[in-house]
Amino acid sequence: MATILVIDDSKLMAHVAKGILNRCDHEVLLASDGESGIDIALSRKPDLILLDLIMPGIDGYQVCERIKSNKSTAEIPIIIVTSKAGPADKVRGLEIGASDYIGKPFDEGELVARVNTHLRIKELYENLQVKNRQLQELANKDGLTGLYNHRFFQDAVHRDFQKAVRYHENISCVMFDIDHFKNFNDTYGHQTGDMVLRTLGNVIARIMRDTDLSARYGGEEFALLLYHTDHKDVHVFGERLRAAIEEKEFKKDDLVLRVTISVGVATYPHDEISDASKLIECADKALYRAKESGRNRVVVY
Ligand SMILES: [Mg+2]
Repeated sequence: MATILVIDDSKLMAHVAKGILNRCDHEVLLASDGESGIDIALSRKPDLILLDLIMPGIDGYQVCERIKSNKSTAEIPIIIVTSKAGPADKVRGLEIGASDYIGKPFDEGELVARVNTHLRIKELYENLQVKNRQLQELANKDGLTGLYNHRFFQDAVHRDFQKAVRYHENISCVMFDIDHFKNFNDTYGHQTGDMVLRTLGNVIARIMRDTDLSARYGGEEFALLLYHTDHKDVHVFGERLRAAIEEKEFKKDDLVLRVTISVGVATYPHDEISDASKLIECADKALYRAKESGRNRVVVY
């Protein structure tokens, strides 16, 4: 069942169409002029619109243009229903975004067939959009941890660093990796290593604010972007993250394992940080110092 809006100043035509469409189990909304038709289209978002061309006030072409130029109604298919059906009129209607034409008086079978065809196209289009969004999401994510991947993180840092500069906002980057992870993998195997990475992804997702961004940067390296966060707050956050992971028990069969992380953070504004690459580089240098000075610690650049 679909919701169909019929915009027609002829009560007779509108009611004939309504009768036919109701018999096909469609809900029908009626508007007797262009302005009220646009209002109903906006408020009810029908699945399809049957539109008369000649009406008092604004005509069908103008109605079509306004519905198609509004982002919230642009995807609703419009079938023009009119006795004014010369080739030039048809072309004009199709050019301004109508999906199809039906001549008046219309044949019941033709009306039903055309309506159902365009409802089906709309449904296929919507399914395609859902699939595209899902694919996009998959393309941006790391399969193991469910966090964003390296490429997405790079794009985000470059984009959002510019925003921070423009609006004079703080932005912080956190880089961390798992201490002695190679030894860990050598001792317990890669499957156990993967379990640790997956669990770590969950811990990070739980600790992070929804508005911030977390990514798996490389093998056992992670990168986080914290918006509106200065060097003091990011230090506190880094410490909280380090402690949460140190306390976490990773369970595999009857093994209970623990890992620690070394954390480097950098914050813009900073004298040495002039672009997004520098922000990452400085966080990475801080991470290196955290490793050198004994691991399982947070170093602020
Ligand atoms: Mg009319």
